[in-house]
Amino acid sequence: MRIVLVGPPGAGKGTQAAFLAENLGIPHISTGDLFRANISQKTELGRAAKSYMDAGNLVPDEVTIGMAEDRMKQADAAGGFLLDGFPRNVAQAQALDAFLSGQGAALDAVLDLEVPEDEVVKRIAGRRICRNDSAHVFHVSYAPPAVEGVCDTCGGELYQRGDDTEATVRNRLDVYHRETEPIIDHYKAQGLVVTISALGKVAEVTSRAMAALGRDDQAA
Ligand code: ADP
Repeated sequence: MRIVLVGPPGAGKGTQAAFLAENLGIPHISTGDLFRANISQKTELGRAAKSYMDAGNLVPDEVTIGMAEDRMKQADAAGGFLLDGFPRNVAQAQALDAFLSGQGAALDAVLDLEVPEDEVVKRIAGRRICRNDSAHVFHVSYAPPAVEGVCDTCGGELYQRGDDTEATVRNRLDVYHRETEPIIDHYKAQGLVVTISALGKVAEVTSRAMAALGRDDQAA
């Protein structure tokens, strides 16, 4: 399956993507994670992306589209993938459509995670992420780790992303409404969009997502 996950920052895309990718047996491709890996490895691409990310703006398409395509060309993605954070504007969606049709492939679904705006800000401001694996996500009050600052899953150090401050979150939400939401209409025109609520327990949202994808038999 080839799936795109969309939703505002804080909708739980990263968390859900990890579970869904595992249930569906496809790789989870997160452009945010790819950028963060480049930043921590101090690559040229990381240097190019950092100032945009810190401000909560989109990294320019020239950088982003090539990086996403390189990742989708890797062998593990030949049979399908779950895209998280890409495409993030209509130009990227058009580039993805062209890339896939060039390969004789197409998307199966665009899963739209809906969450109210005040909930998003609360989720993000308290979010803590493991340095070892961005799918290990905690929240200071909603999902606190057993030991403060330590990942329950792997013992890694928890940190707050530099762009998870309240001021940056407001800008990321503005960018989401202005740039990313229009891709939902782009994909509605192709009949690909399934919308689910991202409220409730993580496992409930995963089950809802699997059902929406027609794969409820395998839901966790
Ligand atoms: P979230 O969805 O929680 O805001 P991500 O980890 O997906 O976070 O993205 C973090 C930042 O990385 C974005 O605010 C943006 O600066 C950059 N980024 C990620 N994906 C893209 C993309 N497809 N196009 C442009 N910038 C991107």
